[in-house]
Amino acid sequence: MLIQENQFISYSRFRILLLGWVVIFNLYLSFSQATENEPSLKNKKIIYIYGGCGCHSPKESVDLFVPLLEKEGAIVQVYDNFKILENSKVMTETDLIIQVYTDAFTPAENRMNDEQFRALQIAMLNGTGLSGWHGGLGDSNRVNTRYQFVVGGQFVAHPGNSTDFEVLITNKSDYITKGINDFQIKNTEQYYMMIDPNIKVLAVSEFKKETYQKSDTLALEQMEWINIDVENQIKGSVMPMIWKKNYGKGRIFYCSIGHNLYDFDTPELMTMQMRGFRWASEGKYANKEPTITPVYKK
Ligand SMILES: [Zn+2]
Repeated sequence: MLIQENQFISYSRFRILLLGWVVIFNLYLSFSQATENEPSLKNKKIIYIYGGCGCHSPKESVDLFVPLLEKEGAIVQVYDNFKILENSKVMTETDLIIQVYTDAFTPAENRMNDEQFRALQIAMLNGTGLSGWHGGLGDSNRVNTRYQFVVGGQFVAHPGNSTDFEVLITNKSDYITKGINDFQIKNTEQYYMMIDPNIKVLAVSEFKKETYQKSDTLALEQMEWINIDVENQIKGSVMPMIWKKNYGKGRIFYCSIGHNLYDFDTPELMTMQMRGFRWASEGKYANKEPTITPVYKK
């Protein structure tokens, strides 16, 4: 009888132990699958186009970001103009275009022309991604409304010029924002933008000041495009700051912060930008992720 009880106890222990191992093994499997399925830059072909307004440190951004991209296994080619977009063979093989090319103060002949934009559209329809930040993507090709539709927003003003503001993460379940908490960013531009209401917004920021003072150092012609009239009527506005969207098979990731390169010293911002590059590089390989967000749907 005693022997039978011991046998029963050891059999129960064995069953519990086995069950424990099955649970642990399944957890391991699901974790390793999640890791394997995460976006990656390994062996991805990236075209990095920089130029336009020196105010956004395009050349310096190459020195900051290209080593980080290469460290993750990306094959990066760097260009200081849009001519490469016309090379259909290269574009067919490109996984991601990173663009740091602000229109402001840039002669029209140096901006993306219509032929180059059409080439960009074709590449994106086939799965090439597009990513960037601030004016390098969100204030580029300013006269082309179709380009603005691709990006999902267009810069209008940066009220108060350099200012401090809070970035609020609105979607914490996304790959790009997971584990990221709301954060403060100081002494940089808070973009006021015209927005496509169907982008998938990941972070927002509120304009909280009663008035936004202008810098005394700006020349009158610069003051005009910053749009003085708008600036004092925006208190309470909540603006999308970081978003993603699709264009054909191509993926777009955009962050409106980054006037200064040192903005990326803020770990939350750098983490999301690098994740955004990885995510946007997967258009040819991953299943299409829905990004349509009908905010005004009744
Ligand atoms: Zn700026």
